[in-house]
Amino acid sequence: MSRRRKKIALERIEKLFELALKCFEKNPRRADRYIEIARRISMKAKVRIPRIYKRYLLCKKCKRFIVPGYTCRIRIRSDGVTKVVITCLRCGTIKRIPLR
Ligand SMILES: [Zn+2]
Repeated sequence: MSRRRKKIALERIEKLFELALKCFEKNPRRADRYIEIARRISMKAKVRIPRIYKRYLLCKKCKRFIVPGYTCRIRIRSDGVTKVVITCLRCGTIKRIPLR
């Protein structure tokens, strides 16, 4: 896979996440579909999904779109280290992201 093609794949992934964020409120199913397509592109082109999306917008278990207030719950915990705790409301997986 050439560099150029990877770049195009990455741009598509970014666009799909953007679209998913925009349409989620009105059409959550379509947003899920966009994310699925983005994941497929990433696997096919062997391009990684940008870390920021992976961290904050994708459930690591069900691989679905997580949106605060809709499909996930976000809490800030502080027990020595401050962490963001994200709970996917669809599968219940908890993700902890330490903040610095
Ligand atoms: Zn999940």
